[in-house]
Amino acid sequence: MLGYEPKEGPGDRAECVERLHPDDRALFFRKLNEVLSGDFDNYRYEARVRHADGSYRWHYVKGFGIERDSGGNPIRMLGIRMDITERKRAEEMLHRLNEELDQRVRERTAELEKANVRLQELDRLKTMFIASMSHELRTPLNSAIGFTRILHEGWTGPLNEEQKTNLATILKSCNHLLALVNDVIDVSRIEAEMIEAEPEEFDIGDLLVEVAISCEGAVREKGVELEVRPVRHTMHTDRTRLLQCLLNLATNAVKYTEQGTIAIGARVLDGGEMLELTVADTGIGIREEDLEKLFHPFVRLDSHLAPTVPGTGLGLYLTRKLASGILRGRISAKSAYGTGSVFVLTVPVSLR
Ligand code: ADP
Repeated sequence: MLGYEPKEGPGDRAECVERLHPDDRALFFRKLNEVLSGDFDNYRYEARVRHADGSYRWHYVKGFGIERDSGGNPIRMLGIRMDITERKRAEEMLHRLNEELDQRVRERTAELEKANVRLQELDRLKTMFIASMSHELRTPLNSAIGFTRILHEGWTGPLNEEQKTNLATILKSCNHLLALVNDVIDVSRIEAEMIEAEPEEFDIGDLLVEVAISCEGAVREKGVELEVRPVRHTMHTDRTRLLQCLLNLATNAVKYTEQGTIAIGARVLDGGEMLELTVADTGIGIREEDLEKLFHPFVRLDSHLAPTVPGTGLGLYLTRKLASGILRGRISAKSAYGTGSVFVLTVPVSLR
């Protein structure tokens, strides 16, 4: 097997040791010592052995017994020996590949951590930028809206029809811009976790009346019915944010309904723990495949109303953020395209 010429008689022990790789000799002696002390169970080892051509090859050796002379002295070892060089090469290759992989994973993880820190920093800067820019925009916008209204309503003198129309367009555009800026401020603040719930005690019935009063003008203008089902229940949650969510839903219902009824209702669930608020309309409806998209930022669905109805595409995105992040609730929508939609907002009655 090793390529040496076979010899007569017992093997030469010194030669046997000399053919072992110097680094494996200690292991061999340890094993031999164990065998000579009677422990055969563990007599197996892997070592490099020099072959006749001078190359070292890996051997697996397992001993079964010792042949002894008549005086009981050991003559030679009985066992098997296998050339496992190829397996060892494969193992080494695998080991090297594993180490390379480990190294690459470590490098990539470090790169990702760096990129993550940078992204967080950029995100913080973006939020700060949006918050401060939006604030800077809101102040002059409010003033533009105020002065345009004064002109439009004729407080500074009579206007001809063309001037009135132009001022009405300016007002509409300014109001749209203001709505966008307000939504962007809220979104950036909520994403930066700058908004915290401010719970207070109130009756849900009063809040629904407030929503109805706010929508009254638009409802009358549209010629649709508004139905608010009376309900009484004491809540302990963020009233301002709940009102904001409901107003968003109710305003949408009015915007996307041309005839019929908008019904706002509430009912207590889970033995008084949760409150389910519904805003149902008989409007243009939403296609099944668009329902989830609604809650993504800047999504405005295509419809015959879209060009004339003002909107930012941020309302439902913000409403969902407020519902889950501040009110600890959830929002969903159901709709029959062409027939109407129902938005359901479920929130805990108390944030305590
Ligand atoms: P927008 O400011 O455009 O109303 P929203 O985020 O509130 O933004 O709504 C996103 C889009 O979802 C709207 O542009 C509209 O296409 C659709 N949508 C919202 N509410 C309704 C509804 N009640 N009926 C039909 N479509 C609706």
